Amino acid sequence: MLLFFTGGFGTLLDLVFFVKKLITMHIKLAKPFYGLFLLMIGSSGVFAQTGRFQQAADYQMDVNMDVKTNQYTGTQVLVYTNNSPDTLHRVFYHLYYNAFQPGSMMDERSRSIADPDRRVGDRISKLKPEEIGYLRVNSLTMNGKDVDFEEVGTILEVELTEPILPNSDATFEMSFNGQVPLQIRRSGRDSEEGVRYSMSQWYPKMSEYDEQGWHANPYIGREFYGIWGDFDVKITIDKTYVIGGTGYLQNPNEIGHGYEDAGVTVPEPIGENLTWHFKAPQVHDFMWAADPKYRHDKFLMDNGITVHHLYIPEDGATENWEKLMEYTPKAIEFMSEHFGQYPYKQYSVIQGGDGGMEYPMSTLVTGGRNLNSLVGVMIHELGHSWFQGVIATNEALYPWMDEGFTSYAASLTSSAIFRPSENPLRGSYAGYYRLVSSGKEEPMSTHSDHYHTNSAYSAAAYSKGAVFMAQMGYIIGEEARDRGIHRYFNTWRFKHPNVNDYIRIMEKESGLELDWYKEYFVYTTKTIDYGIKAVKAQGDKTEITLERIGLMPMPIDLVITYKDGTSEMVYLPLEIMRGEKAPEDGAPTRVISEDWPWTNLTKTITVNKKSDLIKSIEIDPSKRLADIAQENNKVEF
Ligand SMILES: [Zn+2]
Repeated sequence: MLLFFTGGFGTLLDLVFFVKKLITMHIKLAKPFYGLFLLMIGSSGVFAQTGRFQQAADYQMDVNMDVKTNQYTGTQVLVYTNNSPDTLHRVFYHLYYNAFQPGSMMDERSRSIADPDRRVGDRISKLKPEEIGYLRVNSLTMNGKDVDFEEVGTILEVELTEPILPNSDATFEMSFNGQVPLQIRRSGRDSEEGVRYSMSQWYPKMSEYDEQGWHANPYIGREFYGIWGDFDVKITIDKTYVIGGTGYLQNPNEIGHGYEDAGVTVPEPIGENLTWHFKAPQVHDFMWAADPKYRHDKFLMDNGITVHHLYIPEDGATENWEKLMEYTPKAIEFMSEHFGQYPYKQYSVIQGGDGGMEYPMSTLVTGGRNLNSLVGVMIHELGHSWFQGVIATNEALYPWMDEGFTSYAASLTSSAIFRPSENPLRGSYAGYYRLVSSGKEEPMSTHSDHYHTNSAYSAAAYSKGAVFMAQMGYIIGEEARDRGIHRYFNTWRFKHPNVNDYIRIMEKESGLELDWYKEYFVYTTKTIDYGIKAVKAQGDKTEITLERIGLMPMPIDLVITYKDGTSEMVYLPLEIMRGEKAPEDGAPTRVISEDWPWTNLTKTITVNKKSDLIKSIEIDPSKRLADIAQENNKVEF
């Protein structure tokens, strides 16, 4: 239905919730009607095509934090909707805080990996009982009946008494308690900068189930994958604490702390605590952070989005945070224009965590940074709202489609709104080239937990992933790639696309076949190296012979510059692309050569000009081709 894809994004979200609620009502009121209803809206885009489905998890949680013991208790009501065609006999929850205990898989992994993350190292092994993290489920029922459950490290395995049938829902009710670990990685208490609570991955969270089955990965400190749903969370905490995070505060005029409406006098709370009530529609996680020292700045953008900054005011840092308020709204605007409309009504940049980490509607970043670094980390983490929050590929399986695409988007955004750069992607290409020369590269199809080294993981996910997107512009043309990014967002938002879904979008947008690009660049570590092998005078003409030295084939833009200052491009399409990219803005006049089959190691082309008129010949002066040996790419006369 056109409406879903052309309307404002707020409208889309509202409509999705409306439809979800209607479906829930129909399940309860009139089951036979449900099939018909699904059929009616099946073509609307809310539900993916056959073979793809989205589970849903709506959470209602009530938690009580004791700021003296750093322990909390909570209740959770989770309405889980099985939209899969499968009958589920088991479910799994993540209990991430159990990773922060001596001897956990995360502890073992970070002590045995060749290049440990310096933030983790052997710190987990040294945590004292009051410093460890834990998350314990004390009782669990499904539809009112007890179920068997067992805690296995960071995963709760649940055997269901009655299965959950396809297209039906189940209500899980639990009580749980936890202890916030000392800040080690992403989450925790009392960070180096003195932030009391960075509460990410803090509640029992249902694992995602998709067309590839369950994704109950034990947590070793890397990536996440979650189910979209509506969160309704009440947090009771000492009244001096200021909270920020995912979700819209429902009782701002009772809470105050800068959330109250203009002109409202907030009543003095009765007792020692305040209960903060948040709602977050259509998100796959819920983070909150709290500290009594937070200063809270907010800014209402013209488009109705409120930006919140929460940080501990300190000499040298406060000024940077104040200046940051110029850039957060600009970044939201730029990214909405170039990568798809930001779908939520707020975004919060919060001091916490141990670097920068993205969450729905928010980010935790360390605060003691210079302006450059603060703006840089904000832009990167905000960029995740598109690729990790809304498109949300399975980050564990395709970390590069999240970190890489986010890095790509962040580089363009930073160049446009903060630090102009002639080649914003230069750093990503350099990172990829370093990875290749390190000899430690692993295919980007490697599950993020299973890379042999941290460095190979980061360079593949961040740098090579960004190069994948930038180089797509070289292969199909920037315009087609940019249209493709919007189409990718509009087609796959809230649906967890994989690499094939992305490639298919770019194929449709460009009219070219691109399976080979995925197969070489994602599934293998084969590299690109083309060279100019020979240039020969042939009377009034010149023969240029190119060679493919690397194992990965690519189309070639060859630019010939003449001594009179003019230049032309000879474009050599790769035969298996089955077509040519459209001419690109700003490129020299183009001559299309015949296709270059990938089996042929050399290709000779003829230019209708005398060789002594030529000043230089160069493969891809735009430097978007990730050619690992550039010294053979250019000859000058
Ligand atoms: Zn990132």
